[in-house]
Amino acid sequence: MTRKWPKPVVAIDGPAGAGKSTLARALAERLGSRALDTGAMYRAVAWSALERGIGPEDLEDVGKLASSLKMCLGDRVLVDGEDVTSAIRTPEVDWAVSLVAANPLVRRVLVDRQRVWVDEHGGGVVEGRDIGTVVLPDADLKVYLTADLTERARRRAAEAGSGGDARAEQLSRRDALDAQRGDSPLPSAGEAAKDALVIDSTKWRAEEVVEAVVKALRARL
Ligand code: C5P
Repeated sequence: MTRKWPKPVVAIDGPAGAGKSTLARALAERLGSRALDTGAMYRAVAWSALERGIGPEDLEDVGKLASSLKMCLGDRVLVDGEDVTSAIRTPEVDWAVSLVAANPLVRRVLVDRQRVWVDEHGGGVVEGRDIGTVVLPDADLKVYLTADLTERARRRAAEAGSGGDARAEQLSRRDALDAQRGDSPLPSAGEAAKDALVIDSTKWRAEEVVEAVVKALRARL
């Protein structure tokens, strides 16, 4: 079988605070590739809308804004050259981001950019909510990572410097909005892509999750 990308492509989806970013970074390091945090892209659009006084639910203006922004995603997140790495993790952005992410115009622009990122990097580890189901249905491995709500809130609260939504009710509000939207909703564990490896990491250490995913990837390549 000819491979679409030279390096492995791993799609990681799941609810807020499940450990997707930690897994994506560790896995990319193991594979000698890069990780893309697609949530940071939606956050960047939400932050920019708030900065400009555009209502997060204003479909047309937020859609136009998304296509006009230049984003640079790496260890730092840059929007039009400005470092917004911390600014996109505030409670205001946590509140607005799911509204922005429900906008089909925003999703179209960002999904295109996510696919371009994978092509340009020749593969990589991409994490979000709709990666295995919509963005990269041809990924070599799809992972659906979850953990129970209390544990996810505990992990968020423990993240150094996290100014974000560490409270269980804030995480579950965001999950509910993400799961209920019409366009590319967050699936439940039972609705994950059919070929996804589902991991409930409530009782797992981060390294155990990485090992399980590396093993599953080896079996599929
Ligand atoms: O991953 P993170 O929690 O930072 O994502 C922030 C928000 O971005 C999510 O709550 C969701 O609304 C949106 N998102 C999305 N699709 C993705 C990644 C994130 O809708 N692929």
